[in-house]
Amino acid sequence: MKPKFKETIPYFFLNNEIQIGEEEGLAGIISDPTGSISYLIKQLDGKRTISEIVEEVQNKFPSINSDEIIEGITVLGNEGYLEDNSIESNLDSYTLERYKANINYFSLFTKFGDNKYKIQERISETPISLLGVGGLGTQVLYHLAALGFHNIKALDFDNIELSNFNRQLLYSEADIGNSKIEMAKKRISQFNPNVNLDITNKKIESPQDVIDHIKGTELVICVADKPTLHIANWVNEGVVKCNLPMVYGGVLNTRGRFFSMIPSDTGCVQCHIDYAKQINDKQEDQLNAMNNMEFTRNNAAISPNVAIVAGTLVNEALKILTKIEKPLSLGKVMEVDFLNLGTNTVSSWIKQPDCPLCGQGVGSGVV
Ligand SMILES: [Zn+2]
Repeated sequence: MKPKFKETIPYFFLNNEIQIGEEEGLAGIISDPTGSISYLIKQLDGKRTISEIVEEVQNKFPSINSDEIIEGITVLGNEGYLEDNSIESNLDSYTLERYKANINYFSLFTKFGDNKYKIQERISETPISLLGVGGLGTQVLYHLAALGFHNIKALDFDNIELSNFNRQLLYSEADIGNSKIEMAKKRISQFNPNVNLDITNKKIESPQDVIDHIKGTELVICVADKPTLHIANWVNEGVVKCNLPMVYGGVLNTRGRFFSMIPSDTGCVQCHIDYAKQINDKQEDQLNAMNNMEFTRNNAAISPNVAIVAGTLVNEALKILTKIEKPLSLGKVMEVDFLNLGTNTVSSWIKQPDCPLCGQGVGSGVV
């Protein structure tokens, strides 16, 4: 092991104190009247083994015994300040450079001894599916490619229109009239040639269409919104039958909504509906009224707001797949208010044992 103070965490020596980190609430202060801890930290450059560090510190401060020095290294490691520089990466130099800031970011979440490169490897090896490459989907796709997902399946059926360009950043006006999904493939291959974007130009018309698209992948991001009355149920049935985690989101005027689910754990959309009926006896009437309303919703969405939701969805997917942090929205419908950037939980649910979709054993070979 070669302990190295993480390059992403700044530290300052101030009088007889060491301040570690800058962020409010995260910064730590260590008293260091003799300067021994400062000296120890300077030795944590990733070039020395622990025994070499002990020897180096004892040469300068002979009164400190080796147990105390090892204890100091252990405390810094437990605080999340250290990484093991002897861990080598299987990634080639191109990949290390392209995703350098990703890997630095992941190092914020790794413990001493963890391999931060494995997180990038996990991303590049994980096949992921995306339903919809419209307003949210184009931005989600960019984020996935930027993160380094190299195997993405994407589906859409629309053609590009002039009114898309206030928020659909993937396309250009010369593409008007062309298929979104084909132009998405062209543009993403220019942005990140490592991405194998497997495209399907199709309108979803059944749960089986969802299954055909998502099987073989490990997570689904759904931002498709058509057909309005069916898409959530069809996608839900598809992910339950394939037993895949899903992140789902949309933009509605000044707010964005999103939820995520792991069928074997959180239950599914049907569980949510059934649970909501149990705690709110008006729920069924409300759903029926919404389904019967004669109202065609027009998009009211600006790109900066779409970007907030797209980023949030991909962050939730990242957390589910890599486990660097706990997802915010598992089993919960969450809302972000674009006007004040606050988030709140709209509703939450628990898995219903008698759910007709996920309650009788998920992934039960129906696919
Ligand atoms: Zn369910």
